Amino acid sequence: MGNKVKCFICNTEFEGGSFDECPVCGWMYEGFENELEPDEKDECNLISINQAKKLVAEGKDIWGEPLKKQ
Ligand SMILES: [Zn+2]
Repeated sequence: MGNKVKCFICNTEFEGGSFDECPVCGWMYEGFENELEPDEKDECNLISINQAKKLVAEGKDIWGEPLKKQ
């Protein structure tokens, strides 16, 4: 417990580990995002890293809803 990870998409730090969802943007943290292609979709997240980052930059989470404040 008490392990903190940093969301690869929105840089939010939250308590959790691999395969936990970021409480702000909804991205499922995997821990090996650096090894993924930015335009690749895998089974954990329905959109690619680039798509997710674009949405976050627009103030939206990965579902297209407004970002939640922590
Ligand atoms: Zn996030």
